[in-house]
Amino acid sequence: MTFDYIIVGAGSAGCVLANRLSSDSGIRVLLIEAGPEDKALSLKMPAAMLTNLNGRTHNWAYPGDPEPGLDGRQLRHDRGKTLGGSSSINGMVFIRGHELDFEGWRQSGCEGWGYADVLPYFKRMETYDGGADAYRGGDGPL
Ligand SMILES: Cc1cc2nc3c(=O)[nH]c(=O)nc-3n(C[C@H](O)[C@H](O)[C@H](O)COP(=O)(O)OP(=O)(O)OC[C@H]3O[C@@H](n4cnc5c(N)ncnc54)[C@H](O)[C@@H]3O)c2cc1C
Repeated sequence: MTFDYIIVGAGSAGCVLANRLSSDSGIRVLLIEAGPEDKALSLKMPAAMLTNLNGRTHNWAYPGDPEPGLDGRQLRHDRGKTLGGSSSINGMVFIRGHELDFEGWRQSGCEGWGYADVLPYFKRMETYDGGADAYRGGDGPL
């Protein structure tokens, strides 16, 4: 089998990328995920978030290095290990950055990162329950 694109990791970014690329039926895309399917009940229940985090079936739970500033303590770095990646085990909180933060970055020299620059992308990514308007999107994938 041959593919035009091979994407490693079916997390938030990999799935969006695969979906965008495969919308062209002439392009063959292979999406590879190391974790299991996302069929577990705990992945469908927001209240079961800690079940997923405390288990190792859907969480890589990478051990951090000893932190000098924490008296050598090692922190656990939770990352999703299943279709959907970390978005399958995350808190489902969706908050845009504040307009003034983006404006601050633009004024500091980050051309293209002003709020007016990024707003079309925020709108494009979402389907807002309350309907599309000047700030919200109506037919995006999230
Ligand atoms: C516990 C937790 C709570 C969070 N809460 C929120 C929240 O409420 N709101 C929010 O906006 N964000 C939240 N986040 C962050 C958000 O989920 C992540 O930033 C986002 O999902 C990262 O997307 P990604 O595509 O970069 O990586 P991931 O979604 O982590 O995807 C990486 C994928 O690659 C796979 N993979 C890794 N190595 C290999 C390999 N060698 N071969 C094949 N596949 C591999 C992994 O299994 C995984 O599926 C949270 C994250 C965590 C961990």
